[in-house]
Amino acid sequence: MKKALQFYCATLIILLLSFPVATIADDRVNFINMDHPIYLEPWQSYQKLVGLQLAAQSYDELTYLWWLLRKAQAENLIYFYDDFNRTVEQANALVNAKTPLAIQARLSLFQGLIHRRQGNYRLSQEALVKALMQAKEVKLSSLYIFTKQELAYTKTLTEIFDTSLDDIQEAYVEAFAIKDQFLIASINETYGAIYGYLNDYKKSIEYYQRAFEAYQNLKYPAHIAEAIYGLASTYRYWQKYDLAIEYFEKYKQQIGYTPNSNISFFATYGLGMTLAEKGDCLDAIAVIDEALALKGVIDYNAELYKRKASCLITLARLEEAEEALFNAANIFADIPELIGTTWQLEVIKISSELAYARGQFGISYGMLKQYHLEYTALLLKNSSDRLLKVRARMEGERQQIAQNLAEKLSEVEMLELEKRKNSSILQIYFNIFIICVILIVLIVIAVQYRTNKKMHLLSIKDSLSGLFNRRYIFDYLHTAVLASHPEKMKLSVILIDIDDFKKVNDNYGHPIGDEVIRKIAAVGRDIFRQDDIFGRIGGEEFLCILPRTNIIEATKIAQRFLALTNTSAMIKGHKDIVTVSIGIAAFSEQCQDVNQLYINADQALYQAKHLGKNQVNVF
Ligand code: GH3
Ligand code: MG
Ligand code: MG
Repeated sequence: MKKALQFYCATLIILLLSFPVATIADDRVNFINMDHPIYLEPWQSYQKLVGLQLAAQSYDELTYLWWLLRKAQAENLIYFYDDFNRTVEQANALVNAKTPLAIQARLSLFQGLIHRRQGNYRLSQEALVKALMQAKEVKLSSLYIFTKQELAYTKTLTEIFDTSLDDIQEAYVEAFAIKDQFLIASINETYGAIYGYLNDYKKSIEYYQRAFEAYQNLKYPAHIAEAIYGLASTYRYWQKYDLAIEYFEKYKQQIGYTPNSNISFFATYGLGMTLAEKGDCLDAIAVIDEALALKGVIDYNAELYKRKASCLITLARLEEAEEALFNAANIFADIPELIGTTWQLEVIKISSELAYARGQFGISYGMLKQYHLEYTALLLKNSSDRLLKVRARMEGERQQIAQNLAEKLSEVEMLELEKRKNSSILQIYFNIFIICVILIVLIVIAVQYRTNKKMHLLSIKDSLSGLFNRRYIFDYLHTAVLASHPEKMKLSVILIDIDDFKKVNDNYGHPIGDEVIRKIAAVGRDIFRQDDIFGRIGGEEFLCILPRTNIIEATKIAQRFLALTNTSAMIKGHKDIVTVSIGIAAFSEQCQDVNQLYINADQALYQAKHLGKNQVNVF
């Protein structure tokens, strides 16, 4: 007992001591497998990671790199963009030729996101292509697919629709192949964006909705927010302004998961743009100014300036409108990739409107003409036959994939049903088998029990009289005496011997002699009590042990035995009387030994014979 307690205490102490070590070791592993927890709780994960900085730094450089990578990932999701940029920079500085490609690929992806956010679309594409190659080389298929999807989205932003559609299509097929819900959701989200840019708003909403539902299932707050933002933006482009405003409000609530107020830029941006497009110009200008003050993403600011300019023109605040347009044009001028896109062309269109408002109709007409020419060329480019073909193929392939998947699923279902059926039949057979085994075991146990009981009875009983045998009687006497010391004084024995039994045998034959033995046994069963132990200890000699019986009581019982023997018909068809002689002895202070007790009883019996038989004699 004491030893066991010591053992438990020691185990507990070892466990307690090993706890901090285990935590750090586990966290180190967690740096590698942290995608899900970060997506699930970006803000909490970020705080946890910050708390682990020292632990991560005290490990090897690789662990530290993973830590930086995970921190960057969390920072990106909570819109800590400045921190994100810094962390990625820090990590990049530690990268060398020996750094695992798994890390390098993720860093390239992050770099791509940073460039894209800064409007450097060409650099963004380069970084993403690099990430793609690195992910491919180390066969990180999830990362590869995710990057491909980001690349497609980046291309969309610069209106390279045809190749972006190819990329996203490829990503979709691969994501389906590995049945990754998160990747499929990300791709659906990008489809939502692409269809939005292609002005197919119905499809765009459909895909964003799918992404939204999947993200909700996964419970990823940042991604849910993104999908809501997509829905709101598409409703805005679709000119369903009230729905757009509703979703922008929803988005504002959803971004509560991060403490960063800068993120509200996007919500404010969306609201400002929507209000302006709806024609609520006064409200719109207030919200747009609020958004511009938040210093969000640079090319989004260009959009804000354009809307603000349009609103100001309708309000006849032409000087302010000119300033806003100037700001927008400057932003576009800094981002070469955006020159020639619909966004940049719109500056020309609004400038034409401004000129018109100022009564400069010639200038206005010239600008409008330029706008329409360039815009038509752009439309033609974007809705070329090639693009139409790509879109048709994409839809076709998607339907094929969905069909194949459904087929496979039903096959799997059939197989599972079959398997379940087979396993339930097997289960029934197994149950029957188990029941049979249990029954057999029970039968064997019962038979064994009965046999043992029989064997035991055979070993303690005398076969002729059915009484206990000599061995049992004497064993009992010894054990009873040993076990019940205080009662020893109150134990008596009655020794019975049939008189002239030899003559019975001689006169009537052995079988009759046997019959007489059985009848004497029957007399004993009548006379003796339940607790008395009656047995046959020799040819025609019987011994009865009477516990808790003194010599006087024993004598009375013996007298009754003698009387019943005298009155019983012992020999069939003859009136001859069979008599017995009885010797009685009891434990006393002089006799405390079993052997002595028997000798005394025998001596008393001998006296009874000597005195003429058919009588009881007490030692
Ligand atoms: P006493 O009155 O002095 O006891 O005379 P007795 O004839 O009864 O005594 P004795 O010891 O001379 O004879 C006992 C006889 O009992 C001898 C033997 O043949 C007979 N006998 C012993 N066992 C059995 C038995 O199992 N069946 C039968 N039928 N006879 C038995
Ligand atoms: Mg005898
Ligand atoms: Mg005899």
